[in-house]
Amino acid sequence: MPELPEVEHVVRALRRAVLGRQILAAEIHLPKLIAPTSPSALNRKLKGSRISGLGRRGKFILIELDSGRVLVVHLRMTGQFLVLTSDDSLPPHAHAVFYLDDERRLVFRDQRQFGVMRLVANSRLSKTKGIIELAPEPFSEDFSVGYLKETLARSRRTLKTLLLDQTKVLGLGNIYAAEALFRAGINPFKITSELSARRVERLHQAIRDVLRAAISGNSTSRINLENPNGFSYGEAFGKVWQVYEREGQACFKCGARIRRLTHGGRSTYWCPRCQRR
Ligand SMILES: [Zn+2]
Repeated sequence: MPELPEVEHVVRALRRAVLGRQILAAEIHLPKLIAPTSPSALNRKLKGSRISGLGRRGKFILIELDSGRVLVVHLRMTGQFLVLTSDDSLPPHAHAVFYLDDERRLVFRDQRQFGVMRLVANSRLSKTKGIIELAPEPFSEDFSVGYLKETLARSRRTLKTLLLDQTKVLGLGNIYAAEALFRAGINPFKITSELSARRVERLHQAIRDVLRAAISGNSTSRINLENPNGFSYGEAFGKVWQVYEREGQACFKCGARIRRLTHGGRSTYWCPRCQRR
């Protein structure tokens, strides 16, 4: 599943590929992707509009149109965008096809079909369900040490659980939550309200550091939308994590064996020595 840094890379790739292009027609092959809007209504509303901006709020991709509307897309598990020429054949699971004015097609494919697409008025965007609930963007001023302190103080959950709650702390999925906690030297099972002020500061810094590192990445983390076979988020971002998926291996810092605990289908990785309770 793509995490926030990967979504940011998709947005940047889309910006390079389709910014300024006009949508001539929209073809939806999977009505539930855009429900309750019908495929014909979506086509009517999109037809003729130009892509005036590409942005992101949390893991929602925002395709801004000069009509004052925004196409809001969530990739969920397996959603992908591709930009294909008229010679490329349509890949399997291509649920939405947008015909562009340069003879290319912007294609949304999604094997697992959990992706979502909504066309909303720009003025209504911040009040849209799913977006209105989101915590501040991790690099915005609103995500301050003070904000994190208050948020953690109000909860009796474990850090691991709270850090994955996008309405409290935005941007961390399973991988980056584990990496941020390791970087901050904090045990994932600690109750959030029991964290000292100094550790909250360290965690705040660690969250920004892991996300910044993942977003800046290297050139191999650039997503190529023009490969008709698609791409894998895993491959594109394949790298060695400090703790994630390193169960039983030696900690890079202290040499202790990395541990893993599975709860609710999600694995937590941590170093028992660097991240004592
Ligand atoms: Zn260690």
